Amino acid sequence: MPELPEVETIRQDLLKKLINKKIARVVVYKPMSVANQKAAFIKALQDNAITNIERRGKLLVWSLKFPTVIPSEPRGDEGSLSVVGEPEISHPLRRGIRNDKSVALLVHLKMTGQLIYIKMSFPRKRESSGDGSPIKSGMTVVAGGHKLSEKDIDTLPNKWTRIVFVFADGGELFFNDLRLFGYMKLATQSEVDAALKKYGPEPPLTLPSPVGRGGDSPLLAGEGRRVRSRSQDAGKDFTLSYFSSLFKKRKNTNLKALLLNQELIAGLGNIYVDEVCFVAGVKPTRRVGSITKAEQQKLFHAIPKILTEALKHRGTTFRNFLDSSGKKGNYTDFLMVYDRDGQPCKRCGKIILKTKAAGRGTHFCPKCQK
Ligand SMILES: [Zn+2]
Repeated sequence: MPELPEVETIRQDLLKKLINKKIARVVVYKPMSVANQKAAFIKALQDNAITNIERRGKLLVWSLKFPTVIPSEPRGDEGSLSVVGEPEISHPLRRGIRNDKSVALLVHLKMTGQLIYIKMSFPRKRESSGDGSPIKSGMTVVAGGHKLSEKDIDTLPNKWTRIVFVFADGGELFFNDLRLFGYMKLATQSEVDAALKKYGPEPPLTLPSPVGRGGDSPLLAGEGRRVRSRSQDAGKDFTLSYFSSLFKKRKNTNLKALLLNQELIAGLGNIYVDEVCFVAGVKPTRRVGSITKAEQQKLFHAIPKILTEALKHRGTTFRNFLDSSGKKGNYTDFLMVYDRDGQPCKRCGKIILKTKAAGRGTHFCPKCQK
């Protein structure tokens, strides 16, 4: 599942490619991936442009150049907009008649969403070069989200492609989603506010590159201002006293569930919760009430540390294949416990164990973690 470092990486990459590019055509292969009426969604985005991309937790907020009134009509399957640990984006206004203009496109990758941007300087026909890099000269690829392999960009659209934006300059953006939990939703300012309000404070990250635009967007004003993904703003409210207060209110849940809850802390998912717990030396299965003050402090410091490290390595999206920046390898190589069950602990040599906590596969070292 794409978590904060993965979503932030694709945000930064797309910012460089999509801003102010005219959207010439929108194709919706799977109406379920659109949280608006399909025809209205297409109409609102065609001939429009994206003027900024911001992020809150794992939610991307794309500002639109031309706000458009669109009928508010939820898609049939409303339940699938939510997934464990993630705030619902549904909003009372969504059911009523509304004349507000849609000012933004909310994009959430959920469990298996991918965003892949491709632009070729020659007619698009790809073949894998077999050397770990499908990227050829004259071809620009920006991709992120759910774990990607070379095959994912060899032939597009593929059977998981749900939505495609074709830009006037020839660039194409593919929204792929295996399990259909991800979505795109045109949203009014009040819907944007409502969606943002549901996220807890965000751990402060030291961003590896300038975030660029985003300074004066009205979209994340007010409630959202503190959460703008700029290094000086993000995480303003993620303090030790806030973090410790979570442990007093939720004594009987387990640590994993607490850290996964986006309404309490925005951005952590399955991978990084396991890694944070390892660094802090605490088993993720522990009852929250049993975590000592000293352990709370270790967890508090481990969260931004791990997320920042992962972001520096562009997350875990890519493995064994060159990404758009020409880098091979990623944070996967640095994981201490996640997906390493049965392998020796990199620190003490004991075998990493896997169990289930908060309904998710959970990895830990039986010796390094108490
Ligand atoms: Zn160990």
